[in-house]
Amino acid sequence: MTDIIQLLPDSVANQIAAGEVVQRPASVVKELLENSIDAGATEIKLVIRDAGKSLIQVIDNGSGMSETDARLAFERHATSKIRKAEDLFEITSMGFRGEALASIAAVAQVSIKTKTANQELGIEIQIEGSKVTSQEYCQCNQGTIISVKNLFFNIPARRNFLKSDQVELRHIIDDFERIALANCHVSFELINKQNTIFNLTAGNLRQRVAGIFGRKYNEKLVPVNENTDVVKLTGFVLKPEHARKTRGEQFFFVNNRFIKNNYLHHAINNAFEELIPAHQHPGYFLFMEINPARIDVNIHPTKTEIKFDDEKAIYAIIRVSVKHALGQFNVSPSLDFELGNTANTPPLKPGEFVGMPKITVDPTFNPFAEEEKKIAKSTSSNSPAYSGSTYQKQSPAHQPWEKLFVPEQEPQQFNLQADFSEENTQVQEESTFQLFNTYIAKRTKSSLILIHQKRAHQRVLYEKFLRSLANQSGASQQLLFPQNMTIKAGELALLQNCIDDLRQLGFDIEPLGQTTLVIQGIPLAMQEQDGILALEEILEGLKNNQKDFELNKSHQLAFLLAKHGATKTGKRLSTEEMLHLADQLFACEMPHLAPNGKPVVVHINKDFIEKQFQK
Ligand code: ADP
Ligand code: MG
Repeated sequence: MTDIIQLLPDSVANQIAAGEVVQRPASVVKELLENSIDAGATEIKLVIRDAGKSLIQVIDNGSGMSETDARLAFERHATSKIRKAEDLFEITSMGFRGEALASIAAVAQVSIKTKTANQELGIEIQIEGSKVTSQEYCQCNQGTIISVKNLFFNIPARRNFLKSDQVELRHIIDDFERIALANCHVSFELINKQNTIFNLTAGNLRQRVAGIFGRKYNEKLVPVNENTDVVKLTGFVLKPEHARKTRGEQFFFVNNRFIKNNYLHHAINNAFEELIPAHQHPGYFLFMEINPARIDVNIHPTKTEIKFDDEKAIYAIIRVSVKHALGQFNVSPSLDFELGNTANTPPLKPGEFVGMPKITVDPTFNPFAEEEKKIAKSTSSNSPAYSGSTYQKQSPAHQPWEKLFVPEQEPQQFNLQADFSEENTQVQEESTFQLFNTYIAKRTKSSLILIHQKRAHQRVLYEKFLRSLANQSGASQQLLFPQNMTIKAGELALLQNCIDDLRQLGFDIEPLGQTTLVIQGIPLAMQEQDGILALEEILEGLKNNQKDFELNKSHQLAFLLAKHGATKTGKRLSTEEMLHLADQLFACEMPHLAPNGKPVVVHINKDFIEKQFQK
């Protein structure tokens, strides 16, 4: 039999490789932009026509290439970024496979003009379907201009497979945004059909987010900043009230590379769990730095997945860091009245810069620590442009809680007459009274605060139960007459998963045989009947929402106990009870939101009232 195996010609091999690297115009955009970043460019301009189908041009002011390098760059496995296998474990560049240019040149008409700093003349090369068609010296600036024309000109099937211009443009913009976010120090321009879509000046992340998504984002951002032995996490999450029904701005970068990882995404969602309604998605721009040796670097060139060697620890760090950031942030109490946008932050004028917020954080802060509960307080900046806010923590013990609502500057002269004359309004003291047996109203110097009494109590209990779980310190009260609860045999097995947690919360329970649970004691903070109802619902939850329980047992347990343990709406409270509840509430880490994410405090200020009279 004759031999039949042959080596494929390079042009064919490149076309096959291109199938992996170049799926659509956006893949070319990504590779070219990353090359410019790797070449140290500080200004990058992207010009596209017909959603990249007829032209993708990238102009950068990076290092440029020598004549030989410019030729070599289009060979497969030609790269300046790694030399030996070990380099794979400390990659700091975006590219390293040396495949992109070879692949692109296999399926398009490419021209490149490039010049290094110490050359007088640049070099211009034309390549079509992997074949060099011309090469000559040219006049050009330091840097590189690559033009990719008529993508898939030689593979009609692939060309026909491309989606509408609108869809392809969306893909390009997605990739552009990711790269622009990860490289704030670089200025970017995106021009489509002679229209400038983005013109981003170099700056910090806050400025970049505002540049891409709109200035309003400036006031939506909550900074995240956490440094552990394993990873460093920085960036922003969007305030919970800006969560969206559709997955909005969700950007996660590992060592400056955009990645998608459902598990880590879940960690962020989890941190928001009690802050936003179910089926809404939080927004985030988070950057994780990690030792490259701890991740799998051999990522597929076009994929955005990643593997960590210790996913569980990273999950926990992300979750706690985001929670921590949200907890330190004084979530706006005026969300119900849509005052968010009118508060404190005047719109930026063209050319104005947005400064990084100055943050004072307590590095020893533990979201669940019993002592030294502190309250984050935001003060507005007094410069006309946004120049950042300062978050300070104060101990509520030394600071009456109503002070939290007094603006820092000039207290506005505003006296709201506490003159509510409905029958069910109880005026108990000049400035603290109960409305509809449902809300605690409190007059402050410049506004009226309404506290939802049931949700306030839920928040207080929720944090208390979380602390009990964390510190294994839940206080119990013994029942005068132990209660027997009938359970099914299967439920007992489920209950075993969290019987220790329940005991830590203060339940004194013991299974008796296969179908009975003896309840001898319940958490101190609860009424007997409520304690038993909560236990029943926990069992129900263990059965029906096993997944939720597994993922966040502490939250689920504390949430259900708080739900059953809280004061009911409609309960008349004495002044002492109201003041005590308010004190406890404002000693919480997140006083403004109930464990289910609904607002606890509403702040009626002069602005709001004046608006009502303008109608
Ligand atoms: P990789 O980025 O994986 O090394 P590429 O095929 O994308 O592979 O690029 C090959 C080489 O060409 C790079 O290693 C780099 O040396 C050079 N190169 C590509 N684009 C540029 C650019 N815009 N400026 C300077 N050098 C570039
Ligand atoms: Mg590359």
